[in-house]
Amino acid sequence: MEQKIKHVVLYSGGASSAYIAKWVVDKYGLENSILFFTDTLWEDEDNLRFMEECASYIGIEITKVVDGRTPEDVFFEDKYLGNARFARCSEELKVRQTLIFIEEVRMSGFEPILYFGIGPHEKHRAESLTKHYEHFPIEPVKCEFPMIDSISEDIKAKIIIENEWGIKLPRMYELGFHHANCKGRCVRGGFHHYANLYLEWPEVYEEQETMEEKFRVQFKMDVSMMKKNGKPYTLKTHRETLLEKMTKEELIKYAKQKDDEGIPCFCSFS
Ligand code: SF4
Repeated sequence: MEQKIKHVVLYSGGASSAYIAKWVVDKYGLENSILFFTDTLWEDEDNLRFMEECASYIGIEITKVVDGRTPEDVFFEDKYLGNARFARCSEELKVRQTLIFIEEVRMSGFEPILYFGIGPHEKHRAESLTKHYEHFPIEPVKCEFPMIDSISEDIKAKIIIENEWGIKLPRMYELGFHHANCKGRCVRGGFHHYANLYLEWPEVYEEQETMEEKFRVQFKMDVSMMKKNGKPYTLKTHRETLLEKMTKEELIKYAKQKDDEGIPCFCSFS
């Protein structure tokens, strides 16, 4: 007997995942498709608006899963501050929820296939995601990357969504964030990423700085999200020794640069 498939789009709030969501629904039908979103409760409200508007344009509801904790809750519970090298928030609030959902889909008699809005320029990420889902502590799950493997033309998802669908892109694109998850406060963010947060949303930078300082005091640990020369480098130090000393022009130039490694975060795709 042929296996029944559910086509599960990892719906992230980005333009590519919205584009792929429509592609999947058009190809496999509403009843066979799921837009799956794991909410960390830190997302920018305009990302949520964008996701809702795209889902409504496509004609499908978002399947949202919420752990109920924020990344900050996870750090304080674990007594471990997430950082560029290891972010348990992603494991707990995104990956674990995805794993549970995959099992639920299987329990309901379907085999899931996961779809990611990753373009040809991010092939390395597609490979690492495929490996990741092959080595889950459950049966391997098939991953598909239609923008790499199935769609031959060069897709300008942002232009299509704005011009053809008539939906305004999330404001974080305009504001120059290279990583639009968790309202620009991802613990994997680097020097330039956080400079952009300081420039565009200083109040969110302050919240993140306060969280980091609170963690350091409460657990009496010299830890930070970022490192410099192999040593802890806090957001407070980043602000006081660099960002506050720059002119507006210098800050804009610095903030718009990309951090070396980018942010190798599964959250961008889930
Ligand atoms: S985007 Fe960053 S802060 Fe948010 S859950 Fe993922 S790793 Fe954690």
